[in-house]
Amino acid sequence: MSLRRIILLIPLAIVFMTAAPYVRTARSDPKTKRPKLVLVIIVDQMRADYLDRFYDLFCEKGIRHLLKNGARFTNCNYDYTPTNTAPGHSFILSGIYPGTSGIISNEWYSVALGRIFYCVEDSNVSSLGIDSANAAGKMSPRNFHGISVGDRLKAVSPESKVIGISIKDRGAILPAGKHASGAFWFDPQSGRWISSNYYFHRLPDWVQSFNDLRQPESYLRTIWNRLLPAQAYARQGLDSARGEGLLPGENSPVFPHIVADISKPASIQTSGINPRRFDALLPTPAGDELTIQFAEAALAGEQLGQRNVTDILSISFSSLDYCGHIFGPDSHEIEDMVVCLDRSLAGLFAYIDSSVGLQNTFIALTADHGVCPLPERKSASECGRINSKDMLMTLKVRIGQQFNYNEGNENLITALSNDYIYLDYPGIHAHGWNADSFEVAVGNACMKERYMARFYTRTQLEHSITGGGLHDSIQMKIEKGFNKELSGGVALVVQPYSFFSGLSTGTTHGAPNAYDTHVPLVLFGEGVRRGKYSYPVSPSIISATLSDLLGISVPSNSSGVAWHGIIR
Ligand SMILES: [Zn+2]
Repeated sequence: MSLRRIILLIPLAIVFMTAAPYVRTARSDPKTKRPKLVLVIIVDQMRADYLDRFYDLFCEKGIRHLLKNGARFTNCNYDYTPTNTAPGHSFILSGIYPGTSGIISNEWYSVALGRIFYCVEDSNVSSLGIDSANAAGKMSPRNFHGISVGDRLKAVSPESKVIGISIKDRGAILPAGKHASGAFWFDPQSGRWISSNYYFHRLPDWVQSFNDLRQPESYLRTIWNRLLPAQAYARQGLDSARGEGLLPGENSPVFPHIVADISKPASIQTSGINPRRFDALLPTPAGDELTIQFAEAALAGEQLGQRNVTDILSISFSSLDYCGHIFGPDSHEIEDMVVCLDRSLAGLFAYIDSSVGLQNTFIALTADHGVCPLPERKSASECGRINSKDMLMTLKVRIGQQFNYNEGNENLITALSNDYIYLDYPGIHAHGWNADSFEVAVGNACMKERYMARFYTRTQLEHSITGGGLHDSIQMKIEKGFNKELSGGVALVVQPYSFFSGLSTGTTHGAPNAYDTHVPLVLFGEGVRRGKYSYPVSPSIISATLSDLLGISVPSNSSGVAWHGIIR
């Protein structure tokens, strides 16, 4: 055996030595009972601190039941950026970083196509449940370059079903993986649950029957009032706060709200470009209630957890995110959304207990990201909203003057997308300019704008070159989200509590700061050692712990590490 071959084999041997205890634990421990149902609950935009802030308001059989009887990780953070919906949903059940999976954000500027590209768009598939050419259903996981726990499970247990459900297409599709049995999302125009022929040729009968009930209609023109007495909301301050936005069809950000029927778009002012009939129910508890009703229909229709194999049901609750973007995390609306979701979850758990048995169910509860407080609530600090269109225009003028070329004709600074400045590299090279110097000039020009903190160039990120001598934690988070083919030329980091937005109200997420990275993580089920665990983890431990529990290998390229102390 050559020396080179021996050297190559040593790291492999180390990998096998390290991996061996995992395999033995999963396969031969008689106490490791495989659940009939794995329920993954992703609450879109739920911050970790909500669990403590609203703990006294939870009912006994909802979130509190999980907290009391499960393992709660109090220090769970995403260790990449951007902390957006699509990267979060693709990461939770795969552990694969966005830079590797190719799901670098919800959408990004595509250099190849010369337009904004949406994370789950797929022109090769047709919509199901609505007109086959309707773009709302032309979605699939094809752009996700990786595999999830569900894919691994189906490979060893073909009878197992893996299903994803969410109001948002990306929230349903990405956690369920490439070989899911089905993913279903809500079409706010028709009020129907839809899918694509990536999964099957026609919608299952139970989906057709559910749509025939026309449940969303019953929520239109209803009043959304606070569930609890008004004093229970005092912890959030006043109902009307500076910086809050408006629900579609309303002109005041206070309770009671009305779920408007946007059947005549011209008469209703909304922040959306093309308001759809059911848009107004999305940022209210009605959206989560509908999702639960549909999930229960799926449990019954597919007999999930009621056969002799393990099934996975991933439910992503989108409404907290829609609401949080408008009112921010410190609003009465967000408190009420969490309280209502808790009651809805209690109903779901009761339903599962009667059909599958909670003792046969493994539950993971987490979120895809947190959210930034309204800048108006942060009085002393220098923070605010940055209009990306204005910033791009200013940048083009500055760089055109500095390099003495006509940016209007040449468009070397192509786009500001996903907190990256995209550059036309062939155009830069045609001038004979050094790409690195051009990137630095662009970054420096951006830093002259308000609320900007720092930047990292493509050259720096590709070669992992440190900026100021230290390889700081922000650069490491950006590198995990950086993809050589898809990301832009200069990554921008804004001041804490600042963000890019085209609106003068509301808030968002995506930053490497704790308010966006810190999320809840609770594992619950037979064999889970209950308790509060404060060591730092990321949501990737869900994929690793589940792989361990189900006796399958962790998805390739996963960053997840299972915590053996959690499962007895
Ligand atoms: Zn989200």
